[in-house]
Amino acid sequence: MSVVKVTEHGVFGEGEEVFGGTFVPEALETALHRVADAFAKYKDDPQFIEEYNYYLKEYVGRENPLYFAQNLTAKLGGAKIYLKREDLNHTGAHKINNTIGQILLAKRMGAKRIIAETGAGQHGVATATVAALFNIPCTIYMGEVDMERQALNVFRMELLGSKVVAAKSGNRTLKEAVDEALMDFAMNHEDTFYLLGSAVGPHPYPLMVRHFQSVIGREAKAQVLAKEGRLPDYVIACVGGGSNAIGLFYPFVDDSSVNMIGVEPGGKGLSTGYHAAPLTFGKPDVIHGFRCYVMDDPDKCHSIAAGLDYPGVGPEHSYYKAIGRAEYVAVEDHEALSAFVELSKTEGIIPALESSHAVAYAMKLAPTLDKDKIIIINLSGRGDKDVAQVSEMLSQLTDILNQ
Ligand SMILES: *Cc1c(COP(=O)(O)O)cnc(C)c1O
Repeated sequence: MSVVKVTEHGVFGEGEEVFGGTFVPEALETALHRVADAFAKYKDDPQFIEEYNYYLKEYVGRENPLYFAQNLTAKLGGAKIYLKREDLNHTGAHKINNTIGQILLAKRMGAKRIIAETGAGQHGVATATVAALFNIPCTIYMGEVDMERQALNVFRMELLGSKVVAAKSGNRTLKEAVDEALMDFAMNHEDTFYLLGSAVGPHPYPLMVRHFQSVIGREAKAQVLAKEGRLPDYVIACVGGGSNAIGLFYPFVDDSSVNMIGVEPGGKGLSTGYHAAPLTFGKPDVIHGFRCYVMDDPDKCHSIAAGLDYPGVGPEHSYYKAIGRAEYVAVEDHEALSAFVELSKTEGIIPALESSHAVAYAMKLAPTLDKDKIIIINLSGRGDKDVAQVSEMLSQLTDILNQ
């Protein structure tokens, strides 16, 4: 029996401390039921699986390697470090695993239109990519402020043929984009599919996104067994909404010898309030239609990595924390920045700033472990998108140091 207790309505846990579920207006409930029914119908359908696997192989480029980071391992002098190379996927991150799965479902549901929300633009680009591939019109909601900050991603989405709509209410960032996408979905669900980007939101999205991202952990498990003949001691991933982490963790969840560590963005320091680490420093609440750990002050949500700054977190991670199956820690902006530079120099691999959080924690952990221990880090994305930002930050830092 699995340690994961979840109902068919996506409620994780038992008794008082439960997470997930569906907290939405009635109009949206109907829309979500249709998605849940379709997902239940197709997820084990042999033709659906065959098509999903075809695109993962031929379009995304899976399977990607589990690379032994020999230079980093030698330099740190402790546990063996392996990198699961999601950064080598088409579009440069793990998000495409999920967007392929969901758009195939949308197609089966007869959707004439795709909608999505995006913060930094990475999920928007992954969605616009599959909308182009399957030739389905796509509208992406994005906060007006985010559109200015991420102008290049707006251009990418438009280049791929999608329409980007500015969310102009409130703070004009991710929260408002989610609200507008949900409203659109409630009104248009007869012919519109809402393609959600992380293991968050109301049921069935957390379970559906886990399903499509679990390919990461399944591959990693087979690869480490082939290379080492045994399971890893630690699996480590960064946690924004939690999709790359749950994708790596889930296939190991019932292997009790495998320690699972989720690394949240500690931002400018937990005590400053400017972070995005609800599991390390928050409390259970309802946000965006589901129950999970939420930051005390969501308005202060901040991370150096745009893909991690979400004030809530997936319900399954909230549950793993509650039952003690996984450990959640925070890594600050400056530590992630150092890890970004360190992995680039030692392995010739430039990681995404998001993934750099997982690398930073592994760099602290590895030297404290024996040489026969094994760590797998999920390298959720490549850092090409971040080099301009990092170059700017490092030159400011040099200016300050030279003053
Ligand atoms: C979006 C993103 C993340 C954070 O999302 P999760 O759902 O927590 O995985 C992490 N890494 C990269 C490269 C991303 O693009």
